[in-house]
Amino acid sequence: MLHPAASLTRLGTESAFEVLARAQRLAAEGKDIINLGIGQPDFRTPDHIVEAGIKALRDGHHGYTPANGIPALRQAVAADLHSRHGVEVSPDHVVVVPGGKPTMFFAVLMFGEPGAEIMYPNPGFPIYESVIKYSGATPIPIALEEANGFAFNAEALLAQITPRTRLIIINSPANPTGGVTPKAEIDRLVAGLMDHPHVAILSDEIYSQMLYDGREHVSLLQYPEIRDRLIMLDGWSKTYAMTGWRLGYAVWPQQLVDHAIRLCINDHSCVNAATQHAGIAALTGPQDAVHEMVAAFDERRRIIVSELNQIPGFRCADAAGAFYAFPNIERTGLTAREAQDRFLSEVGVATVAGTSFGAWGEGYLRFSYASSIDNIREAIRRIKGCL
Ligand code: PLP
Repeated sequence: MLHPAASLTRLGTESAFEVLARAQRLAAEGKDIINLGIGQPDFRTPDHIVEAGIKALRDGHHGYTPANGIPALRQAVAADLHSRHGVEVSPDHVVVVPGGKPTMFFAVLMFGEPGAEIMYPNPGFPIYESVIKYSGATPIPIALEEANGFAFNAEALLAQITPRTRLIIINSPANPTGGVTPKAEIDRLVAGLMDHPHVAILSDEIYSQMLYDGREHVSLLQYPEIRDRLIMLDGWSKTYAMTGWRLGYAVWPQQLVDHAIRLCINDHSCVNAATQHAGIAALTGPQDAVHEMVAAFDERRRIIVSELNQIPGFRCADAAGAFYAFPNIERTGLTAREAQDRFLSEVGVATVAGTSFGAWGEGYLRFSYASSIDNIREAIRRIKGCL
């Protein structure tokens, strides 16, 4: 009989991966499945990025790199942040990691312990709540409401801060809701945080290039007054259709950057070298493919929001960013989980129950529109038939 640590029982999961596995199993059995469950672009990584990765291997870049990433990559990240957000970032504060998730894990491990409180968006990316619980800290949900465009309300958020609050996690544009928090609300949050100098902020900006209808991304890096306690997470997975390469980064504040690098050394040593070279090509090469992808998402977004609103019992708010629609399905009489299971098993449409993103997700279903327009229309047709 083995005796695994009790902490393991507190670790959650990301149900989108379970839905993906079920959908793939059904497809392998010959069922016709439309997958609107998983959150990854359905585009290929642009060719020049793939070529840079292949060339790096051919050129012999197969050894360890510095744990925080090769200098040219960190310089490219700093230059990219300067051009997109108009901010100065030292490459020494950039830590390259395998994807977006390691930064979350490290940030929560740095602040989480019994007695500590960590705030996180709910509904939100499920890994936040999972790793907060794993760390032993108390997860404090920041409720995101449809009526507020799924943006956080700064006043309500600030009112939840206590002397035990160590870290606040925010995410805009957001998974699973597609919500984008307006600049005025972020201004209010930052102003209010001046009264709470003991609180660190993790801003997950992995969808920073996916905003629609002329909206512009507001990076928390643009607020110098919190730079000494801000961890800004971004990466290549979504922007460059590179989910399987495993490449992301964070800008860490001076006080935490060496801890972050030490966690990298303890955890994975470094990201594989060829992927890092591909990452340089992504940032320094032409950005046309990114713009084309975002334009394609925008077109699908308009279609899916309008079509979802035509399903009896569905009500879908405008999706302002990322590539998710998050309709309210309460009037169908189904719970989120029932809807997810029925649509997959009865009509072969994979979606993810809102409750997979926290208790505040009940009554909602996440549709990823990283799929073709034909698939989207067919999926909606099937759901209408099912209901
Ligand atoms: N942050 C958010 C909000 C996400 O939705 C995701 C992926 O779905 C990630 C981070 C993780 O990205 P990665 O696959 O690069 O670890």
